[in-house]
Amino acid sequence: MIISFDDTDSRSLGMCTTYLGALLMDELKAYGKPAGLPLLIRLNPTIPFKTRGNAAVAIKIETSESEKIKKHVIQRIEELAQMEDENTNPGVVFLENNNDEVKTALTAFFKRAVQHVITIQEAKGLVEKYELDGRGYKNSRGLIGALAGCGAMLEEEWDHTYEYLSYRQKEAWGTQRFVNENSVIRADDATYPHTWDNRDIANNMVVCVPHSPDPVLYGIRGKTPEYISHAASMIEGEVTERHAIYKTNQGTDMHLIPAESISKLQDMESYIIQGFVASNPRTIEGGHTLFLFRDKEGEEMECAAFEPTKNFRELIRKLLPGDHITIYGSVKNKTLNIEKIDVIELTEKYRKVNPLCPKCEKSMKSAGKGQGYRCRHCKTRADKAARSKVEREIKPGIYEVPPCARRHLSMPLIRKEGKDIHPSR
Ligand code: ATP
Repeated sequence: MIISFDDTDSRSLGMCTTYLGALLMDELKAYGKPAGLPLLIRLNPTIPFKTRGNAAVAIKIETSESEKIKKHVIQRIEELAQMEDENTNPGVVFLENNNDEVKTALTAFFKRAVQHVITIQEAKGLVEKYELDGRGYKNSRGLIGALAGCGAMLEEEWDHTYEYLSYRQKEAWGTQRFVNENSVIRADDATYPHTWDNRDIANNMVVCVPHSPDPVLYGIRGKTPEYISHAASMIEGEVTERHAIYKTNQGTDMHLIPAESISKLQDMESYIIQGFVASNPRTIEGGHTLFLFRDKEGEEMECAAFEPTKNFRELIRKLLPGDHITIYGSVKNKTLNIEKIDVIELTEKYRKVNPLCPKCEKSMKSAGKGQGYRCRHCKTRADKAARSKVEREIKPGIYEVPPCARRHLSMPLIRKEGKDIHPSR
């Protein structure tokens, strides 16, 4: 049986769908045997209804007591979900005896939910068409994530990473977290690059410990369950209630759609698109850095490295019109928010210099405003200034926002192969 659920938490009231997953993984052992790791699925990161990271959770369990499981899960959702919050609309799907048709429909739905925007109507339609045991609360929006979680469980092959999530004791929820920062640094040093995004060295921050009122104490992301468990074993902090290891599509770039031209891009979707820098980058009030991007058809669009991307903006400010680039990022309000940038080829940069005398090869001097240049010794003249090539301040290669600004779904460059990779740590 697959059990998948979503949308149980609230930004102001706390909770976290992954906590419910961890709890159920432990409690459902009374009715069966968990089959494999639970899934933590990140869906379209641009969805405005999300609490934080647009996550859904799915669990698979071998059982002959499915009715008892359903009753238990529903009881837990009703007890723990933050129903008072207008934006919390839980959904749960129980899937048994699925056939090929259901599998095809749900796996396709999973991929669509990661890349596109889906209506509640479409999710309800799927539940009806295949007579699934799906239950939605309030406006039922959580059914979207719950169905996508089922699809992820049914799909055998997708790129994945792992996360070790450690949960606080209930009494501590909402209070200040205690984690020894030095122990995070030691754990990171011992396991990077097999784990990542534990800390942000450039911006001097620990990033694996959240600040919201939810039950998570910390989350360690990495390549295998062994590496993340090893890192977690080194972290010192307050006494925790439980932990869970999730298999996840975090850090995979699954949300990115390859696009040929700007005309194909839509708001609330994320893309990989090649083109050129079309204006000098400028920094506006609030510290956001923007520039125009031009595709091969000549159409232009604004690209942004927002203030939270911190030191990444310094790199963006070094771009020049004509630089050939590929942007990875999502479109919101007709602006492409950069997650990664591949600088394919840099345009040449010149500055104006006084021309050289063709006779003595020394630098000529200005002959006065608007009167060109002349050589005092040889009396030669030149009308125009010469150009001298300037070394560019960036090198070609692929760059990313720092860990403190990373989207859950964005693939950290440390996972990519190749020589021109500039991981941010
Ligand atoms: P939680 O920890 O509760 O899962 P969250 O940040 O993941 O928090 P949710 O509270 O789950 O956010 O809110 C996201 C809502 O958006 C859910 O109801 C989910 O079903 C829905 N949703 C997810 N993906 C899509 C999509 N592609 N199109 C439309 N709605 C979506």
